[in-house]
Amino acid sequence: MLKKIAFIGLFVCTVTALRAQKHWSKIYSDRDLSRDTITKRGITLIFINKEKEFSRAEQLRMQETFFKIYPQEIKTYNKKAAKKVAMIIDPDYTGVAATSGNVIRVNPQWMAKHPEDLDVVTHEAMHIVQAYQGHSGPGWITEGIADYVRHQFGVNNKAAGWSLTPFNAKQSYTNAYRITARFLLWITQKYKKHFVRSLNTAMREGTYTARFWKMQTGKTVDELWAIYSQDPVI
Ligand SMILES: [Zn+2]
Repeated sequence: MLKKIAFIGLFVCTVTALRAQKHWSKIYSDRDLSRDTITKRGITLIFINKEKEFSRAEQLRMQETFFKIYPQEIKTYNKKAAKKVAMIIDPDYTGVAATSGNVIRVNPQWMAKHPEDLDVVTHEAMHIVQAYQGHSGPGWITEGIADYVRHQFGVNNKAAGWSLTPFNAKQSYTNAYRITARFLLWITQKYKKHFVRSLNTAMREGTYTARFWKMQTGKTVDELWAIYSQDPVI
């Protein structure tokens, strides 16, 4: 059961809560073409490829990206995050990528067309670190934080042509992804350096409410957005 589905121009990412993991139970199958199990410094990645046309070199780049960013994400945002992760190159998945529990699925067609977009891994792996339960808070926060972290720890954003979306007056903080991420970055610069860390913890621990913004910054989210709209420099 998909808990949160978001659209922004194109289908970007779905993230489902931990308890929905049963839905993903068939992650191993006879159709697996290769399975690499790699352990580095206490973190294990099971990398499964189900698409015979998919480049081996690209698989290795994705694995390398994972081992660069995941330890940083854990250290910064959730030291108790899963230490065993599965990543599946899955031709049956038609979005870009999706994460449920500790399983990431990536569409091979997307990566074949956008081979530099390695930080899809950074975004999806952050969903594992977030480990939010159902009803933890708005989906735009979940996706905004994942893209904030992609901006923070991404290894290949520039080559991928990926950056935080410049502000324009048609935007809203509920747009999610890069638009929300930029707003979060601005808050960390103007109000509270560790705002995103605190927001992430509140979301995971189930303590987030709309009052969170005011408690942390002295302003409501609408007040913050109004100020941001007037001077969105980062
Ligand atoms: Zn996402």
